[in-house]
Amino acid sequence: MNIHEYQGKAVLKEFGVPVSKGGIAFTPAEARAAAQELGGPLWVVKSQIHAGGRGKGKFKGLDADAAGGVRLAHSVDEVEANAAEMLGKVLVTHQTGPEGKQVNRLYIEDGTDIADELYLSILVDRDTSRVAFVASTEGGMDIEAVAEETPEKIITFSVDPATGFMPLHGRKLAGALNLHGDLAKQVAKIGAALYKAFTEKDMALLEINPLVVTKENTLKCLDAKIGFDGNSLYRHPDIMELRDLEEEDAAEVEASKYDLSYIKLDGSIGCMVNGAGLAMATMDIIKLYGEEPANFLDVGGGATKEKVTEAFKIILSDENVKGILVNIFGGIMRCDVIAEGVIAAATEMDLKVPLVVRLEGTNVEKGKEILAGSSLAIIPADNLADAAQKIVAAVKEAA
Ligand code: GDP
Ligand code: MG
Repeated sequence: MNIHEYQGKAVLKEFGVPVSKGGIAFTPAEARAAAQELGGPLWVVKSQIHAGGRGKGKFKGLDADAAGGVRLAHSVDEVEANAAEMLGKVLVTHQTGPEGKQVNRLYIEDGTDIADELYLSILVDRDTSRVAFVASTEGGMDIEAVAEETPEKIITFSVDPATGFMPLHGRKLAGALNLHGDLAKQVAKIGAALYKAFTEKDMALLEINPLVVTKENTLKCLDAKIGFDGNSLYRHPDIMELRDLEEEDAAEVEASKYDLSYIKLDGSIGCMVNGAGLAMATMDIIKLYGEEPANFLDVGGGATKEKVTEAFKIILSDENVKGILVNIFGGIMRCDVIAEGVIAAATEMDLKVPLVVRLEGTNVEKGKEILAGSSLAIIPADNLADAAQKIVAAVKEAA
């Protein structure tokens, strides 16, 4: 789960990480009030969307040379005018995709005089199964471009969970960021605090870009992008409260209400599968036979009629879906119950696209009989390859 920059900074502040003062605004008047409260003389008006690259982003409906989603302002009037121009508009950045994201809230921040912009992030490194730091002197800009063009300028090291963040790691950070004297001490402190925040709050990603050296020779986190491990949210009710459903895909939000793991994709074949591994395999085999999956969908262990119906609704809410492949393994769930659920759901939904069903497991013969006996045009399949070939053929035929 991702959160907004201003929320991320509030979390980091709890751990003693230096961030600027700021206030949230949903209207130009609130932006003005927040600016007045901060006092100036420099302010930053920052679009709050769950995507990076806002500074270089472009608003739809504004001139191509208009300022982006992060703007400096030198008066309270300028803050308000920028807020009026930005709120409600769609911001397109290299991370939002061409459709962009609507800006519904702004963060009005006390402006910082920047001497240098650095990059610092923490993530879970799958190769070492450890928390890793990524640091670079080339902050502020596109870190992806730095990685591509000058990879030697990105320094990575991991932290042993048995020791946690040690003075050694602080020195490594200072070296990687070319910081000396008091700044080296500051970055060691910040590194320790960020590591603590990352592990205590079960973060999946913590990216500070830029971490800046101010003209007063202090360090400050000017941007914060934080993602949390969704599986650990149950033990962080404070973080759960930060969820902004407007930033998430509507179908994915709907699916989560029914405990369905759904991720929308760009293809044409809707998939309904139980078990994440089987769902992945189903997506792979659809691709193998020449089509693209429209989604990942794991209906979970208890594929009841209600769940199957909801799953159909969610799959069909995607207008790119030209056919559905149901691939369910009846382990604890019996295949006959699943077959009844599929029929009931397909009938209720008045399904118009081809439907291939592959069942395997407990009571599979009974399940197949029930499917064959229904008046619906369900195409039965015997195994995964057969099912994928049949749905691909049916979709091609219908096109
Ligand atoms: P992003 O474009 O979504 O990554 O948004 P950032 O929060 O990183 O802001 C983009 C850029 O705006 C930064 O790299 C800075 O160059 C600039 N910026 C942000 N805050 C300040 C500030 O307080 N003072 C100054 N002078 N520039 C800022
Ligand atoms: Mg940034």
